[in-house]
Amino acid sequence: MLKLKHRPPNIMQRPRQMQILLLLLAQLLTIVFCDTNPGPEQKGKDEGPSHEHWGYTDQNWSKNFRECEGKSQSPINIEISKTVFQKNLPKISLEGYSLPETSSLNLINNGHTVKLSLPDTMTISSGLPHKYVAAQLHFHWGSKKSQGSEHKVDGTQYAAEMHVVHYAAKYGNMKNATTEPDGLAVLAVLFQVGPTDNKNYNLIFDKLQDISEEGVEVSIPGFDVNSLMPHRLDRFFQYSGSLTTPPCLQIVTWTVFNETVQLSEAQLHKLITSIKTDHDILDSNFRSDQPLNGRNVFSSFSAMLPSSRMGDKGHPAESGGDEQSVDGNHVTLGDTLAIIFGILFGCTALAFIIYLLQQKKRQRLSTESGKKVIYKPATTMEA
Ligand SMILES: [Zn+2]
Repeated sequence: MLKLKHRPPNIMQRPRQMQILLLLLAQLLTIVFCDTNPGPEQKGKDEGPSHEHWGYTDQNWSKNFRECEGKSQSPINIEISKTVFQKNLPKISLEGYSLPETSSLNLINNGHTVKLSLPDTMTISSGLPHKYVAAQLHFHWGSKKSQGSEHKVDGTQYAAEMHVVHYAAKYGNMKNATTEPDGLAVLAVLFQVGPTDNKNYNLIFDKLQDISEEGVEVSIPGFDVNSLMPHRLDRFFQYSGSLTTPPCLQIVTWTVFNETVQLSEAQLHKLITSIKTDHDILDSNFRSDQPLNGRNVFSSFSAMLPSSRMGDKGHPAESGGDEQSVDGNHVTLGDTLAIIFGILFGCTALAFIIYLLQQKKRQRLSTESGKKVIYKPATTMEA
């Protein structure tokens, strides 16, 4: 950044004033250009039906599941600057997500995650090449709030991640779909920690203690599953990838939403400490990010435009409402720079105005006294 240097006191004449004005203008331009950090988005798919023995401590799964070392694995680290903006990517539309209270959903601890079964009346009706039918949703988390998500955005790992798994309607069921390259579509929601409970998740999180042991399941009444999702479904990243658990089938179209959802620290703590696998607490169930291997990651919005940096809620990164922008972190960086330079600009402008006023006063005094203008430092001038 350019800084206004201290000037020798006796040369405050018009050309110098012009230089200062140019410097101020340069600062203003810098503020404008510093504030253009982009925002990330993603998408993806997930979890297969495998119950073979595998765990998260040793993630060298390819010994038993060859496809886990394939070239299109998930999750990935989404590098925003490398995403491909696709203006025509349609908004994701969800149908049937508002379930009647009279319906019943199965919540199970399967030893790898907490999984909620979903009825086939829930669909992704548009936003993908064809219709997809919901099957289940589940969660990934870490041992602390600074880790837990599977997908990363510009290297940032989020507190947790939810995957809503769908299969292509044209294949009739999950089993048939898992043999097709476009068989699954997974919606990924990234979580951040906020100050208050996200009550939309209470129905699920209040039951976690009841399904602490592996294999235990409970029923919960139907609810509006839309309430678990970010508000902005039109901003996302999409790429072709795999299940993030063995057998790592490369059949998933991932959609990772730009806007994150907030959970309280207490809610995250419940997730981390309630679920057991083999009688041990399952405190981390995220796969490490996998090589992109030349795959494209598309974004539904221009991540390079300032207006795309925040979701419509604009919540702060570690506090606030129920949703946040994934790229909130990047926005935070840009905003911080903007604030710093804004303050610098403000101080410089103020100093400049004061200087001009003093200069005018001095000119007036010297005119009145019929003498030439001679600058003196303020300390001596005011004495
Ligand atoms: Zn998953």
